[in-house]
Amino acid sequence: MGVYDVIVVGLGGMGSAAAYHLAARGVRVLGLEKFGPAHDRGASHGGSRITRQSYFESPSYVPLLLRSYELFDGLARDSGRDVITLTGGVMVGRPDSLTVSGSRRSAEQWGLAHEMLDAAELRRRFPTLNPEPDEVALYEAKAGFVRPEATVSAHLELAARAGADLRFEEPMASWHELPGGGVRVETAAGSYEAGRLVITPGPWAPQLLADLGVPFIIERQVQYWFQPAGGVGPFLPERHPIYIWEDATGRQIYGFPAIDGPDGGAKVAFFRGGSPTTPETIDREVHDDEVRAMADRTRHHLPGLPGTFLRAKTCLYSNTPDEHFVIAQHPAHDAVTVACGFSGHGFKFVPVVGEILADLATAGTTRHPIDLFHPSRLSGVTS
Ligand SMILES: Cc1cc2nc3c(=O)[nH]c(=O)nc-3n(C[C@H](O)[C@H](O)[C@H](O)COP(=O)(O)OP(=O)(O)OC[C@H]3O[C@@H](n4cnc5c(N)ncnc54)[C@H](O)[C@@H]3O)c2cc1C
Repeated sequence: MGVYDVIVVGLGGMGSAAAYHLAARGVRVLGLEKFGPAHDRGASHGGSRITRQSYFESPSYVPLLLRSYELFDGLARDSGRDVITLTGGVMVGRPDSLTVSGSRRSAEQWGLAHEMLDAAELRRRFPTLNPEPDEVALYEAKAGFVRPEATVSAHLELAARAGADLRFEEPMASWHELPGGGVRVETAAGSYEAGRLVITPGPWAPQLLADLGVPFIIERQVQYWFQPAGGVGPFLPERHPIYIWEDATGRQIYGFPAIDGPDGGAKVAFFRGGSPTTPETIDREVHDDEVRAMADRTRHHLPGLPGTFLRAKTCLYSNTPDEHFVIAQHPAHDAVTVACGFSGHGFKFVPVVGEILADLATAGTTRHPIDLFHPSRLSGVTS
């Protein structure tokens, strides 16, 4: 049994990044993961995740995004893996939609490079897109996509190289604080002690972090791949941007270029509006009526789609009531740091969340702005 400073439980998106940032600082890390490396049972699979800086959710996220972009570049360099690609992106909707007005607010507040396009200009620049006459778009060259499995694998590889002890197929069964400080974690294979515990459970938060008092809702979501009717040419990343598209009812879809070669198709999905579930009971089958609903919505905005349906895969959102993250020292346990509730928009922050968790677990504080993410806003618990 090794001697550890920090145990990280859950080596998905956030936990793999935390293990890497801790190990890179010379901290002795044990990482415990329920499944294998970069698996598809949680929230960090499906080949692509949108990244963008003009953040409609709130301008408060922008400084974190700027740092996350730097760290993604460093991760690509250090791992030799293709983790981030900037294709440019459009946030489309009516001018007063949250998608457009919120993105614009963040861009203006932080002086981020962007262009506002009317419907005619959007259609001219991106012939794959077919906006309504009253729709506009915020175009951002720095938007693009990140690769979830490659990002998790890169963080795990670099963490192991820096000395982290990573154990897969070994779920944490229980933990408790030790009277003299520190924690003990139990698994079926053994018992481990460390000074601090970082818990990054993704959609298992309701089980592992019930004592935060946050009413998480775990939501079933589906990612769909369609082969464009006229071939992938117009949908290649050089020509077709990532997009989030809000319709008059407020429902958003989002999608990607054809990033996986001539037969890989283009991925599209609804943002939010899935059904509540749990990681144990989720229906992982995707049904015909769901594919039809996605195809109909896609047809409306992108004339080259849906073309041929290729495949679909479920995934899990971990929603908080206000859709903002939870990242903090555990209000009831000094030795424990938590990150969860990423509410369907966390992956683009994975590297910076890893850095923040390493800060919190080693120094108890971070230079990054995380006040928005304290769980007391949702639970009434104060720290
Ligand atoms: C369909 C879909 C589309 C998305 N699109 C985007 C997007 O475009 N842009 C974006 O930024 N974000 C997006 N997201 C959100 C983003 O992917 C998530 O916020 C992020 O992956 C969450 O990472 P995580 O580490 O919290 O969870 P996970 O990656 O699921 O990691 C949690 C880990 O904890 C492990 N675990 C659980 N219990 C235990 C235990 N007892 N012991 C040990 N290990 C345990 C799990 O096995 C898992 O590996 C999307 C999510 C989905 C599902």
